[in-house]
Amino acid sequence: MKTRECQVLVVGGGTGGYPAAIRAGQLGLDVVLVEADRLGGTCLIRGCIPSKAVIHAATKFEEMGKHAESAELGISIPGAPTVEMKKLVAWKDGIVDKLSGGVKGLLKTAGAEVVEGWATFSDAKTCVVKNGKDEVQIKAEHVVLATGSTETELPFMKFDSKTVISSRDALKLDHVPEHLAVVGAGYIGLEMGIAFAKLGSKVTFVEALDRILPLYDKEMTRPIEMWLKKHGVDVHLGCKAKGLGTKDKEHVLKFEDASGKEQSVRADTVLVAVGRAPVTAGWGLENMGVDMGGRFVKIDDRCATSMRNVWAVGDLVGEPMLAHKASHQGEMVAEIIAGRKRRWDHLSVPAVCFTEPEIVGVGLTPDEAKAAGEDVIVGKFPFAASGRALAMEAGADGGFVRVAARASDHVVLGIHAVGAHVAELSGEFSLAVEMGARLEDVADTIHVHPTLTEAFGEAAMAALGHPIHIAAPKR
Ligand code: FAD
Ligand code: NAD
Repeated sequence: MKTRECQVLVVGGGTGGYPAAIRAGQLGLDVVLVEADRLGGTCLIRGCIPSKAVIHAATKFEEMGKHAESAELGISIPGAPTVEMKKLVAWKDGIVDKLSGGVKGLLKTAGAEVVEGWATFSDAKTCVVKNGKDEVQIKAEHVVLATGSTETELPFMKFDSKTVISSRDALKLDHVPEHLAVVGAGYIGLEMGIAFAKLGSKVTFVEALDRILPLYDKEMTRPIEMWLKKHGVDVHLGCKAKGLGTKDKEHVLKFEDASGKEQSVRADTVLVAVGRAPVTAGWGLENMGVDMGGRFVKIDDRCATSMRNVWAVGDLVGEPMLAHKASHQGEMVAEIIAGRKRRWDHLSVPAVCFTEPEIVGVGLTPDEAKAAGEDVIVGKFPFAASGRALAMEAGADGGFVRVAARASDHVVLGIHAVGAHVAELSGEFSLAVEMGARLEDVADTIHVHPTLTEAFGEAAMAALGHPIHIAAPKR
């Protein structure tokens, strides 16, 4: 067997691993990245990007349907649009191929070597990578673990990629299910469920908790609940999925409602989206002497594990399981290995759920800030009062921007928004929180008119008691 020795070995070419390898290469380190599947990992191949492509296509389809029904904008389409899922999926696959190829090129340019195959560790710094009959042993001074996460299966309702599907199956369906039941109204369930509702499926959610998207407060999720109601999507809260059954020769999803009664809903397809599990088995993690923190690999604020010069990033190390957290950790670890002084000291990991409407969370909600002992002032600006939102048909979905700041010094502690296109506001929100902006800084920043960003300035002014485009709150 050949042996390759290197300074840095990165295991996993997802959003955590590939930025680590690129940055290590840029810094002149001899780096090898091992990937068993395709470069890009969950996010590029079967997660963030393909799901957003499907969501985009579904939204376009729904909008065209509106023009077929009514000519409110003076635009009419003579008949209802149709969708061909095979073509939609092929278009989405084209984007994935382009991005995965792009990652390959970036790694090459940075001087990182890619080894294809599955890595199995015999000790903390040694692994064997198998690819068919080929085997190579890799010995490294530093190891960056970025093996990511995978779908959680319900033991009583195994994935079969046809009737009971995971998010990866949902992204390659060759048809629009007539009746789609979604188990779990979290990130994946809502994003994909709403997309299929737009594409024409009759969608039903079965969610164990008493609310959807529990990471966001009720004020934030209300516009999404309104959309679901308006579009005939049924949501069963406080209900636990129990398995597949048949009724009148049709597939049904059986579930137990809040009172313990068994119910069922027709479902030719069931999407199970009940969370993701870190990939910790099958690659010799147990031989590495690395401490665990529950089901995740335990790290400190430099992403160092308990084993010297073994680092871990991304979904493998815990919540939030988000691509931008993974990539920031990967890039940071490469710099630390190269001798730079870095640590994880972010005030927030921003989050966006690409629902209808979209929802953004940066920093603390007012309730979280209060629970942390802060005296908080809050300002809110509705998109119904934004000219830009109205001119983009984005003013009637109940959306708003909400800013929470410390009462004593007006430092912004959290910014939350819900509404069409608000994902694109998340960058300015993050910058404000990370830079310790005060309400006055945000209010004094000139926001381009007409843009949705004005709502952020107005929300800050509302918190200060003097918004321009809504009535000033009584104090
Ligand atoms: P992964 O991307 O899972 O990469 C791990 C890689 O390691 C894989 O390619 C795997 O093949 C490889 N690997 C594992 N073990 C080995 C081994 N022993 N040898 C060789 N290779 C190995 N996040 C967002 O921020 N925004 C979104 O919009 C978003 N949408 C999502 C939508 C869906 C449907 C899903 C499923 C996830 C979404 N996520 C989103 C989450 C995001 O995809 C993950 O947080 C991110 O991919 C984590 O990156 P990672 O590098 O830790 O792991
Ligand atoms: P999730 O944790 O967001 O939601 C899972 C939901 O399933 C929860 O609300 C839970 O109460 C419910 N549930 C669990 N068991 C159940 C049962 N037996 N019956 C009914 N409901 C049940 O998980 P997810 O939607 O699978 O997404 C996984 C992760 O992927 C997310 O946490 C997120 O980190 C990432 N992701 C992010 C984005 C984004 O950033 N836009 C998009 C998709 C996925």
